[in-house]
Amino acid sequence: MDRTILIVEDEAHIAEGLQLNLEMEGYRAIVVGDGNAALEVYRMSPVDLILLDVMLPGMSGYDVCRQIRSEAGRVPILFLTARSDEDDRILGLEVGGDDYLTKPFSLKELLLRVKAIFRRQAWFATTGRVPDEYHFGGSVINFKTFEGAGPRGPVSLTRKECMMLKFFAEHTGEVVARDVLLDGVWGYDAYPTTRTIDNFILRLRKHFEPNPANPIMFLTVFGAGYKFIPPEK
Ligand code: CA
Repeated sequence: MDRTILIVEDEAHIAEGLQLNLEMEGYRAIVVGDGNAALEVYRMSPVDLILLDVMLPGMSGYDVCRQIRSEAGRVPILFLTARSDEDDRILGLEVGGDDYLTKPFSLKELLLRVKAIFRRQAWFATTGRVPDEYHFGGSVINFKTFEGAGPRGPVSLTRKECMMLKFFAEHTGEVVARDVLLDGVWGYDAYPTTRTIDNFILRLRKHFEPNPANPIMFLTVFGAGYKFIPPEK
């Protein structure tokens, strides 16, 4: 089954290079040059992944991502950012992006990321040791709908948040190093800073910890990583 990748990039030579290489790898690639066109394509046809440039004419890549997420769209989004500022990268994740690549990037690196995203998606779509409706510590999450409930009411998770929670659920009680988590959820060796992980941990705490500032489930193990310990009841 061909996967469709939507490339949102206003620099034609970059867009063409991406399209050509992705097609050579067997993907279907659609190119658009601005945010409105991206939303139009996204709403009309199923897309398996969006490569989303941040600096676009008109609407920014962040705004496109926000809009898609606000419509409950859960397609994986990989930001292509010219900015190397860490805060900008974090913003990309906060608005619901799954990952980012800083320009200039190598096509090899991009293809690795794309493959990794699809590989992790396949893992995530398979029901393994953890049931699709997973109860823990008084909270619940449905790994198919990404909907659930935490101590403060209904929660709606992003795909990445769900993947991270599922990974933790599969490793309950174990100390999980940040790079293991990165590899497990993102599917490649640690290139993004471990702050990426820390950022997602904060989000999980916000969703599910009775007191996010004083976590009892998503624990930091100093110098080692994290440990997920759902209370018995
Ligand atoms: Ca651009």
